[in-house]
Amino acid sequence: MKNQIQFRCVLPNGIHARPASHLEKVCGQFQCQISLTNLRNGNTADAKSVLALVGTDTLLDDDFTLSFDGEDSQQAMAMLTDYINNEFPHCDEALDTQADDESVTLPQSLLRHQPILLQGKRLAPGIGKGVLVGYRDIDLNTFVTDIQNDEVTRFEQAHFQVCTSLEQAASKASGHEKEIITAHISIINDRTFIDGIKENLASNSTANAILAVVEQITTQLSQSSSAYLRERILDIRDVAIQLLTAAYPSIDINTDFTLTEPSIVIANDLTPSQFLGLDKELLQGLILTHAGSTSHTVILARAFNIPTLSGIEAKQCTDAINSQIYLDVNLGVVSTQPNEGVCRYFDRAIALGKQLSEKQHAFASQQAQTSDGKTIEIAANIACSIEAPAAFEKGAEGIGLFRTEMLFMDRSEAPGEDEQLGYYREVLEAATDKSVIIRTMDIGGDKPIDYLNLPQENNPFLGYRAVRIYPEFLALFHAQLRAILRAAVHGNAKIMIPMIQSIEEIRWVKEQLEIVKKQLTQEGQAFNADVPLGIMVEIPSVAFIVDQFCQEVDFFSIGSNDMTQYLLAVDRDNASVAKLYNSLAPAFLRMLNQVVQTAHQHGRWVGLCGELGADAKVLPLLIGAGLDEISMSAPKIAATKATLCKLNSEDCKVLFEQACQCPTIADVQALLENAAAIQENKPLLATECVMKPADFASKEEVIQAMVGNLGLVGRTDNAYKLEEDVWAREEVFSTGLGHGFAIPHTKSDNIRHSSISIAHLNQPIDWQSDSGDVDFIIMLTLNKAQGDQHMRIFSTLARKLIHQSFRDQLRASKDDAEIIAMLEKELAI
Ligand code: PEP
Ligand code: MG
Repeated sequence: MKNQIQFRCVLPNGIHARPASHLEKVCGQFQCQISLTNLRNGNTADAKSVLALVGTDTLLDDDFTLSFDGEDSQQAMAMLTDYINNEFPHCDEALDTQADDESVTLPQSLLRHQPILLQGKRLAPGIGKGVLVGYRDIDLNTFVTDIQNDEVTRFEQAHFQVCTSLEQAASKASGHEKEIITAHISIINDRTFIDGIKENLASNSTANAILAVVEQITTQLSQSSSAYLRERILDIRDVAIQLLTAAYPSIDINTDFTLTEPSIVIANDLTPSQFLGLDKELLQGLILTHAGSTSHTVILARAFNIPTLSGIEAKQCTDAINSQIYLDVNLGVVSTQPNEGVCRYFDRAIALGKQLSEKQHAFASQQAQTSDGKTIEIAANIACSIEAPAAFEKGAEGIGLFRTEMLFMDRSEAPGEDEQLGYYREVLEAATDKSVIIRTMDIGGDKPIDYLNLPQENNPFLGYRAVRIYPEFLALFHAQLRAILRAAVHGNAKIMIPMIQSIEEIRWVKEQLEIVKKQLTQEGQAFNADVPLGIMVEIPSVAFIVDQFCQEVDFFSIGSNDMTQYLLAVDRDNASVAKLYNSLAPAFLRMLNQVVQTAHQHGRWVGLCGELGADAKVLPLLIGAGLDEISMSAPKIAATKATLCKLNSEDCKVLFEQACQCPTIADVQALLENAAAIQENKPLLATECVMKPADFASKEEVIQAMVGNLGLVGRTDNAYKLEEDVWAREEVFSTGLGHGFAIPHTKSDNIRHSSISIAHLNQPIDWQSDSGDVDFIIMLTLNKAQGDQHMRIFSTLARKLIHQSFRDQLRASKDDAEIIAMLEKELAI
């Protein structure tokens, strides 16, 4: 019988590195040889090698076979049939491409200064200003050498050295940086890569053997029809450069590249490691000739907020090397040889961007509270100690969930007690005296750990995971508890247990805590015996016996991700039932109400640490429910605090009570939308739209700044399009009215809240009209909802401005509020 099974690839991005490494792990459990053949192109690969699998170029909807040869073929076939049909489709998530191919119309306020622009592809947003510096390409052929006697040793030493340094780097990194370094670790340990080099070493130098394998793999990848797979070439090149430099330390390829002033770097190929080596304080932007949106260098650039553009060749910019340039990725352009007007345009655009981020930052550092002064702790979820300082910088008032299982993953053995102590202590020290909730390892089930050899399960979410595995891995659990208790000497630590469903379980945990405390006392170790103990409320059974849990624990944190899936019986990772997965289900809201009320009656506090906490639309309900703390990913904190300060806690309470009475999710959503519309209402005239005194040199600058300000205060979501609408009117006739006044105006779809903006300039400017210079600008940007108001306001204003007394009064107003009051009265608004 032929040991072969056939499938269709349903992964949207095909079998790229992430799904390939999942498949490789499953195949690796068997002794038999397993090969994958892509039936579209005939490419066949060893299924136990990630690189070989990636090289088959298996894309969405490709049919492929798995063939088995060896003793345990039957078991392997059975397991892989189940795996490919049920689990493989969910092992990938949408790639964060973020490339925006939508073309942007360049603003007139820039174009009218006749800039010299090169257009590129937008990869990481932002605007940068700096000296253009070229990154020299590394020619791998520099390493070509003759074979020596000790090639195997040379290669093995280099391999060991690079692996060690990558592992050290990975242990210190977090987020995207960690993921990318981990991907490089898997490349350097990949069977195809290593075996290929070793085979070549028999008749080649280390350098030539590495180069031959790199050539072979990159040729294969470059033929892929998937841009994502082609972009992996840079990762292979990156690992190869690291191996070659380790193997030949005496060969100088001049990789030293030090930035000495604010710079924009242009490079044909910049590997992730080369990017990480650049000084991020000085790096103001990147121009990459070949990079695509999913290149790891670009993913890193986004993580470090470095504006990045691609599709521009170094030779197009040779004249600009060593001179000051601007890179505006929001517009997708590089501006070389900028004249004064262009410089003023970009400097203002940079300033507007900075103001926006400062505005957010201002919220980050404020205490989270509602408009009526009710405080609620806004905390951060982290998975790695190195994330903590950044989380506090982004405004976290505590760590509401430290997912420690990440410390146990992607390694060959568990971290020991002392290693864990180091991580927990690092977070507690970064937190100073703020609360840090350390959740004990939530591993097993859907978070497999190879070295624990946990069984494959049909239903991992309901299976052997979290607190349920602790009795079998008691030494591991004790080591973690000991590490937390010891670290707790250095800060405000709390212990939280995941997946608790019964009183028996928490009583068992408490017995274990007592055992380790006794051990630590006997050993004379310093530790904190009074660390509060809490549980995740993520299994519905807990919601019914919160009163009994209050006798056992100090606090609760609702895990909305799991609670939603268990309460509604909807797999949180299954796309086919994703429509049913919704935490706005009235049943969920009533559960929330029940847990918070009961816990509060017994003097316990309740937080929430699932994804729901970061959803700004749902925030009024979470406040209304009376939660004491909400924990979320750190980048969401500032925006959440900003939304929170506009909410009234009593209104939220009423809203939550109404939501609990809604029969359907749609009713809850409608309730929320209605409440948001009332809450978001912004008046037509407001001091936030007055710019006085204003220092502008040209009409272009005035319009850029006034429209930019509308973006800053949240009145438009698309300042560029709104500006285009304003200029469209100016093209027909200039809006200068004489006597120093101008009324630029538009009725536009691009203004969210209709606005009248005012700028009183220090110096009159040329309004490019026959009516002379202008020093007082009243800009009308009205949306469709305002209907015929647009022309009514315009003509009323124009009529009033004929009168000198009105003009004098406007010019003489003492402050912004006086201007607004006057216009409100005169325009009858
Ligand atoms: C949750 O279930 O809501 C939760 C926060 O835990 P995790 O997402 O790690 O399961
Ligand atoms: Mg959970």
